[in-house]
Amino acid sequence: MDTTIHFDSLGLSAPILQAIEEKGYTTPTPIQAQAIPAVLEGKDVMAAAQTGTGKTAGFTLPILESLSKGNRAKPNQARVLILTPTRELAAQIQDSVVTYGKHLPLSSTVVFGGVKINPQMMKLRRGVDVLVATPGRLIDLHNQNAVRFKQLEVLVLDEADRMLDMGFIHDIRKILAFLPPKRQTLMFSATFSMEIRNLAKKLVRNPVEISVTPRNTTVEAVKQWICPVDKKQKSALLARLIQENDWKKILVFSRTKHGANRLTQYLEKKKIKAAAIHGNKSQNARTKALKAFKDDEIRVLVATDIAARGIDIDQLPQVINFDLPNVPEDYIHRIGRTGRAGLKGQAISLVSADEFKQLSDIEYLLNRILDRKVIDGFAPVNDVPVTRLDKRPHHAKKAKQPHKDHRQGQRSGSKGRGHNPRSQRGNNNR
Ligand code: AMP
Repeated sequence: MDTTIHFDSLGLSAPILQAIEEKGYTTPTPIQAQAIPAVLEGKDVMAAAQTGTGKTAGFTLPILESLSKGNRAKPNQARVLILTPTRELAAQIQDSVVTYGKHLPLSSTVVFGGVKINPQMMKLRRGVDVLVATPGRLIDLHNQNAVRFKQLEVLVLDEADRMLDMGFIHDIRKILAFLPPKRQTLMFSATFSMEIRNLAKKLVRNPVEISVTPRNTTVEAVKQWICPVDKKQKSALLARLIQENDWKKILVFSRTKHGANRLTQYLEKKKIKAAAIHGNKSQNARTKALKAFKDDEIRVLVATDIAARGIDIDQLPQVINFDLPNVPEDYIHRIGRTGRAGLKGQAISLVSADEFKQLSDIEYLLNRILDRKVIDGFAPVNDVPVTRLDKRPHHAKKAKQPHKDHRQGQRSGSKGRGHNPRSQRGNNNR
């Protein structure tokens, strides 16, 4: 008996099924199979799902279906509001809305900070069925009366955990205050901490709860190993690895924006085409860099953790940690970029002696010791001490005063700023 769930059994109509077929999807992912019927029934949804699970189509498809039945948006009104933490994610969601809705007469637009507000105001003037937004810019537009929510039917909160991490809680509260209480609410988050649950209590009513894991969990699909190397040799080692292995598409993570710029310049000097994305780059520069990377015009994209969050790049065989993240969970997020959709990926971390603590924390979280491979000519003078899986929780060991190269990463930095929501403005996308 064939127990496969098909898209045409989920309650979607012909124009949407056609768009799905044109996109090349044959079967719904688990989150789609569960979320689509629930959303179509008008239920609130609370879903634990990361990027890579197909969650975007999971909420976009049924929303478009519901919208196609109601009245069109009036001037300056939005019928669906999708809130997301970063500009890249906002742009990607908008792309999905356009793709899946291409056979429907619905309008949509995306708004985010870092670009001129006037063109966005113009687009909102006639009203939109779907509005994708980052929180800061949405508040600015609302303050200027460019958008109203009298007709709002659905609110989607995407990557809720990341929004809280980035200090958007005040902005979210402000936005909730101007939305009508009678609406459908869908909440997506990679994790469900107490903080997220508290937020959810105010947001969703009798939600359908869905929990899925990414199509590939890092540990099985991705070959992971570390290269012990002296800090000052890392750039040269990376260039060597790229050239010797003839890698064509490499996502490199850097802990700092400055480090990302320096490395990009170094690679360019070595005739390896590279670009950096991080919070100090203009929106245009970032969009351009991402497009060039996707189109294979550049070989290396150097990104900071937050700038790379949620970016969806198909067929990414190589992820390099130029330095290890301070937050061990970020390692998982980083390497989750590769090995997607059944493809084989590898994640290589260039580790110097001063990163011993980060390495131990990551191995503790993974519950395994990562293989080491020293590259000829790059054997470190300051060797990385041997790690072991310690049964004691790591935080029990008092961390030493951070070395100056171990400054707080951007992620913890942004948490600190979270107390002042205004300081997030135009900054909502590292
Ligand atoms: P998301 O988790 O929404 O970021 O989606 C991750 C990736 O999965 C995107 O590249 C989608 O285009 C792709 N995708 C979404 N749904 C399906 C599906 N049903 N079949 C195959 N690929 C899909």
